[in-house]
Parts: sequence; C-alpha cells; structure tokens
Amino acid sequence: MTTDRPMWIANEHVTARSGAWIDSEDPATEEVIGRVPAGGSADVDRAVRAARDAWDEWRYTAANDRAELLHEAVAKSYEHLDELIDLLTREQGKARPEQEEEAEWALTSLRYYAELGRNGLGRVIPSGEPRTQLNLVLKEPYGVVGAIVPWNYPLLLLSWKLAPALAAGNTVVIKPSELTSMVTLAWIERCFDHFPPGVINVVTGTGADAGEALVTHPDVRVIAMTGSVATGQRIASVAAPMMKHLHLELGGKDAFVVAPDADLEAAADAVTYSALLNAGQVCTSSERIFVPSGIRDAFAEAVATKVSALRLGHGLDEGTDMGPLAADAFRDKVERHVAEAVADGARVLTGGAVPDRRGYFYEPTVLVDVDDHMTIMTDETFGPTIPIATYDGLDEVIARVNASEMGLGATLRSSDPLVIKRFYEGVKAGTVWINDPLTDNYAGPFGGMKMTGGGRELGPEGLETFLETKHVHWDFSQDPKEWWFPYS
Ligand code: NAD
Repeated sequence: MTTDRPMWIANEHVTARSGAWIDSEDPATEEVIGRVPAGGSADVDRAVRAARDAWDEWRYTAANDRAELLHEAVAKSYEHLDELIDLLTREQGKARPEQEEEAEWALTSLRYYAELGRNGLGRVIPSGEPRTQLNLVLKEPYGVVGAIVPWNYPLLLLSWKLAPALAAGNTVVIKPSELTSMVTLAWIERCFDHFPPGVINVVTGTGADAGEALVTHPDVRVIAMTGSVATGQRIASVAAPMMKHLHLELGGKDAFVVAPDADLEAAADAVTYSALLNAGQVCTSSERIFVPSGIRDAFAEAVATKVSALRLGHGLDEGTDMGPLAADAFRDKVERHVAEAVADGARVLTGGAVPDRRGYFYEPTVLVDVDDHMTIMTDETFGPTIPIATYDGLDEVIARVNASEMGLGATLRSSDPLVIKRFYEGVKAGTVWINDPLTDNYAGPFGGMKMTGGGRELGPEGLETFLETKHVHWDFSQDPKEWWFPYS
C-alpha cells in the first residue's frame, strides 16, 4: 500500500503548487511505498514566509518554554517510536537495530539542546567606565534557518540542526532528502505539532528545485546542510553573493590505522563494524584501512571471516545484519570502485558482487593489495567495502592518512601512549577515535576539516552555529564627551 504524504507548512498539510509528486521507494524491495510533493520555489517561499512571521513571537518565547516544547516532542516521539522506526527502515534500508539507535540518538539531541538552550546567551564584559557604562556581548538568533538533510541518518542529522536552531530562538524550514522525506514528514507532523505554526516547516522536493530555492531565499540567513562535497560546493557558490552564514558538513574518507601493538582479533571486529555500519553509508565509515605489513595476511583473513558471516536482508527482518544501499546509483558506484580496484591489481577476499536478489544490495567486500591511488582509496565509496593497505612506519602512515582531501574522522587501534599522542596530534581530522570508532558524544563537537567543511554540530559549538554575535555599548549618560569635535 502506498501513501501520499503532503508537506508541512505552518502546521498544515500542503501539496506542491506544481501538483507534481516524487515516489519514495523501499530500497530492499524496489517497491514504491509512497509519494511526497515535488516542491519548488513557490512552496519554499510560502514556508519561509510562515517561518519569518512565526519568528517575531518565537524569538521572545522564554528559553524555558522552548525547552519544554522540545521535551514534549521527545515524549511524543516515544509514543510513535515503533511506527517511525518501521517507516525509517522501509524508506532508508539499514537494519532495524541500527534504526532504533538512530532514533534514540536523535531524541538525545533534542534533550541535550533543550537543556543547553536554558543557559546564558552571551556575556557581560568589562566597560571602559565601569560606573556609568555597560557592555554586553549578545548571542541572538538569526531568524529563519534552512536545514538541508541527507538520507543516511535522516532523523539524527535533522535533530543536530533542528534542536539547537530552535533552542537558540530560530525558526526552521527543513528540506529532507528526496529518499527519506516520508519519515521526516511523519516525525515532524506527529511529534512537533504542538509548536506554534510556522516555527517548524518541511518542504519536500529535489535539491535542484526546493533545496536551491531555500538556499537563495533572501529571508533565510543560515543554511545548515549535511551532504556531499559537490552539493556543498554548489550551495556555497550560490550563497556567497548573498553573504549567507553557511554550516556545511560534507563527505569523508576516514582512515582506520591498526598499530603494531593492537590486538588483531579485536581490531578486525572494530574494522568490520566501522566500515559496514549502515552498509558503509556513514560519513565517518572507515574507508581506508592501514595495517603493518607483517600482520596484513592474518588481519585480512580475520576480517574476511567475520564479514562473510554477516547476513544481508530487509532491514525489518529478524537477524539482518546489513541492508541494501539506499538507491541503485549508490550501488553502481560501489560496483565501479571495486571493479576499478580489481582491474588495477587488488584482490577480493570475500564479496565483490551484486547478489542475485531484488533490492539495491551489494555484498560486503574485503580487498587486499590496494594502493593509495586507486579510486577506492581516494574517492568516497559510501558502501560496504573494506580495502586493506599496508604500512611500515608511524610517520609514513600519518602522512598517508592526511593525503586525503577530506578530514572528517580517523581511528587508531593501540594502547601505546606515544603512538596515540603522535597520531591524534598529526592527523588532520575533526574527530579522532582511539580504539572505539564512530562513538559520538553529545557534548563533543562533530565536524570536519579540509574539504569536509568546517561546520561543527553537537556540543556548545552546535548551538553557537545558530547564534550571531552583537556587541552593545551602553553609556547611561547623555553628556557630550570631551574627545568629540571640535578638537580646539
Ligand atoms: P547530497 O549532497 O546528494 O544531498 C544532501 C541534501 O542536499 C539533500 O537533501 C539534497 O536534496 C540536497 N541538495 C542537493 N543539491 C542541492 C542544491 N543544489 N541546493 C540545495 N540542496 C541540495 O548527499 P546525500 O547523498 O544525501 O548524502 C550523502 C553524503 O552526505 C555523503 O557524501 C556523506 O559523506 C555526507 N554526509 C556527511 C556527514 C557529516 O557530518 N559530515 C554526515 C552524513 C552524511
């Protein structure tokens, strides 16, 4: 059964002005499960106007009241959790336990920013004339925030934008990915409908139409976007003439380094998890594995054994470890990266093929004899591949980790403090995990360096993103100053 799910503007259901719709598919079955409106600039304008009107009140709503509204959204989310997780799984594809984790993390983000938003908004600084002057550094909401979200963690990555933007006193227009609009709409209309109309709006549609209309709308001062480097570059180029505040969280090509002292079996478990979570469709997936030459064979064998035991299936099926890729184009890219690596001399230890079944599945794949110049080691694969390269010295491997143009995350397995310190100081990445890959911390800022973009989500930095700074210099007296004109 398919469902038509309209957009959500000012707490009302709205179809696109054009009347056009976009299909939403279950990537494990290739069945159309519903449709969302193909919104365009007229729809974006309607949503932005609603958000602009709502901001006049929302910016003066007490922070404590905003916090309570966010907590109420958490409570409502728990009432609808099963239904939301099922829809998330059907639309996005990963295994249900991973969807449950995503939902829990998203709700934690709402709670965290509800509380952080109750704290101070700025500071008082010393004045030149302390008896008669007051100097305030104010942190103020921008107004309307545009939140552009990818499909790989649609609720989580939305929550990292929505919760701090609201807690800071902004109103929001959300543009979800075309692939995961249904679950986004379901979450917002069911669990945030107690917010005043216009404070949260969702416009669906393609990036080129709805997304770009949001980026270029003159009343949207901030664009918070997670997605690919190419989309980030496009957004930056159209937003630059309008001097928008951009918060970009872009692609990754994370390295995973196994130090000579690492426990081999445990390192193999860690790599299997950090490379194959969400079928490798995580911005911080380990996509380049470096192991000392001497242990390569034993390590690769251990990883291949673990990987070949994983069960592919529909995310809702009991016992599924790994779901499909989210769309056929993403599977094609994985297939191409593996084929090019093999043509250049890489060897497949397990996987390396499209299984004979419906859905956009690709077998989890372990490769050895890769070198750093293969596309599988340079370009973001965003799929279930584990290319294992070798190294011989710490400085050498740090240089190779840093050779990527991206700088999102990096992982090291070691217990040697000298190796660990040299690694985290030497690596150009926004997050460095020692032994425990891909674990986020709500108080710890998350984001990248270099081509990944400099945006930071989570932590106080994630709230600061949605606040602009104003300095107020207040002299209580109206007397003229002696240093004013005339000088004589
Ligand atoms: P994408 O860039 O294709 O799309 C992201 C969003 O941008 C979608 O909502 C899309 O509709 C929209 N969009 C596309 N073109 C646009 C335009 N011209 N103007 C405005 N909006 C536009 O990315 P994706 O395929 O959805 O997600 C995968 C990518 O996201 C990967 O590269 C991954 O590494 C990255 N990612 C990064 C992080 C991070 O925190 N750094 C987290 C998750 C995913």
